[in-house]
Amino acid sequence: MCFTGGVSDIQKEEVLRQYFGHHAFRPGQEELIDALLDGRDVLGVMPTGAGKSVCYQIPALMLPGITLVISPLISLMKDQVAALKQAGVAAAYINSSLSYTQYLEVLRRAKNGDYKIIYVAPERLSTEGFLSFAQKAELSLLAVDEAHCVSQWGHEFRPSYLKIAEFCAALPKRPPVGAFTATATNEVKSDIVKLLGLHEPLELTTGFDRPNLFFAVETPGNKDAWLNDFISERREQCGIIYCATRKNVEKVCGLLQECGYAATRYHAGLEDDERRENQEDFLYDRAHVMVATNAFGMGIDKSNVSYVVHYNMPKNIESYYQEAGRAGRDGSRAECVLLYSPLDMRTAKFLIENSEDNEELTEEERAVVRERDLARLIRMAGYCKTTDCLRRYILQYFGEKAPIHCANCGNCCGKLESFDITTAAQKILSGVTRVERKYSSGFGVTMIVRMLHGSKEQRVLELGLDRLPTYGIMEDTERSTIRSYIDCLIENGYLRLTEGDYPVLCTTEKAKNVLFGGEQVEFVGKKKEKPKKKKTAERQTPDDSLYATLSELRFEIAKRESVPAFVVFSNATLQDMAAKQPETMTEFLDVNGVGSKKAERYGKAFVDRIRAWKGSK
Ligand code: ADP
Repeated sequence: MCFTGGVSDIQKEEVLRQYFGHHAFRPGQEELIDALLDGRDVLGVMPTGAGKSVCYQIPALMLPGITLVISPLISLMKDQVAALKQAGVAAAYINSSLSYTQYLEVLRRAKNGDYKIIYVAPERLSTEGFLSFAQKAELSLLAVDEAHCVSQWGHEFRPSYLKIAEFCAALPKRPPVGAFTATATNEVKSDIVKLLGLHEPLELTTGFDRPNLFFAVETPGNKDAWLNDFISERREQCGIIYCATRKNVEKVCGLLQECGYAATRYHAGLEDDERRENQEDFLYDRAHVMVATNAFGMGIDKSNVSYVVHYNMPKNIESYYQEAGRAGRDGSRAECVLLYSPLDMRTAKFLIENSEDNEELTEEERAVVRERDLARLIRMAGYCKTTDCLRRYILQYFGEKAPIHCANCGNCCGKLESFDITTAAQKILSGVTRVERKYSSGFGVTMIVRMLHGSKEQRVLELGLDRLPTYGIMEDTERSTIRSYIDCLIENGYLRLTEGDYPVLCTTEKAKNVLFGGEQVEFVGKKKEKPKKKKTAERQTPDDSLYATLSELRFEIAKRESVPAFVVFSNATLQDMAAKQPETMTEFLDVNGVGSKKAERYGKAFVDRIRAWKGSK
């Protein structure tokens, strides 16, 4: 049974509890909801996972007419609408994934007053059929999700967002407009107000911190081996591995599958059917690891993602925080690790300079966007190289004050080690110098590492690298370590990589200081301690065996109802349930994340299971 009528006589707290199962508002939510209910425009700036959706969904349920939610991506709408339906809210979406007949049917039902919330793609607003529907309908509220898309200063500029103001102007009675984003820079905020035509909005920016997320940057010589180790310690958890390119997605996914992990992949080069299938495998926990490009995830509200690893450095902090923020959305502890190597800088630069992503842009707009993207990339690289608190770096980027130490990131927790690598540096630099002298076209990092390590691979021998005096001078050092040292020498300007598709390693003027001038080279690395999985589990599950039992039941229900497990209940809800161990319906309703619809639907099954578990103890 879906909710269809207005509920102005009931309180927003009741709606929060009844439909969404939450017992208290998070910071900022109440103020934004009140302003919208008062008919005032708002601009809500909150980080991913902070809970922007309820800020417009609750007013939508309390106001008499329809709320339109403008949202840029199809997958986002589908998930949000599915979640709303589960919670008992009548909702629909209109975008290009609907056939014409389906579209007409949604419009017909909308005219009939069947929906409280309709998600719509921005391109739709200016179509005649939709506009004429909107002009006749009773619109109570217009919510603009991912509102930074309207700004050229934002990292996802979409010209179709510029049509929103026109659309509002064409309505006989302009409803209040709520704009929501996770991008907090001043340029973006003022663009949103100006370009969406907000009228004296209540501007509210909440804290960007996500205390449950542990941030770390690692610079392993061998990313694949690192990843294998990392996932092997987290077999039963779900996670996302983001790669910069489709090629890397294929490679990493293949590798993980070979190692026996339930991994799947997602990128724009796959057929629609496969993409959909793989996404569902991940949502329904049939695949535990999703390896993907940034095409995956806008709108992924899978709340039980326990880690997000970036195999390559993303293009900017906004994207990083958004993607990393897909971990631990339900508030349980989660890890966000970025695997950095200086080569990532090159890949990211290449992607920015050759980006044709946004077909909506003119050549001129593209040039402006590119320049801003490059400036953002430098700030991103700064995150990878800083030895200060990582959380502070991110929060300061978003214009927030933060303590010097957070005690919950790789830099604050893992002690840094610094040691003298002058001898190794001299070996590497003389190796590269020898190669430069003998081979005019030079070699990339991999071949130099092989030469220094004394590889017997055929290609090395064919090229005659074994005849250089520096062949094998580092045979006692692991290849991954040699690679890390080379990264360090690039970082410190003793070596550089040429531009182009096949970057070649070259010495710089500065190299002479190490080779002949007695200059010392220091290597600063983080100790190889990773946060122990056990610790996470301890914090997450007050009683492991009850949690496992409840999780099994959730899985059975999800399977029966053909919905992802986290749509039934999030991990955080199951954890609270395992802690509170409710045995009556009243106690069950007290669990965080249990609304009355869900209690009605699932309460008995869970309470019975808890009683049985207690009886067996
Ligand atoms: P955003 O759009 O800001 O990224 P969402 O609206 O998707 O975030 O919300 C993220 C998660 O937080 C969801 O799982 C949602 O159910 C939960 N959430 C939202 N508001 C609250 C609240 N007041 N109390 C507890 N959980 C909440």
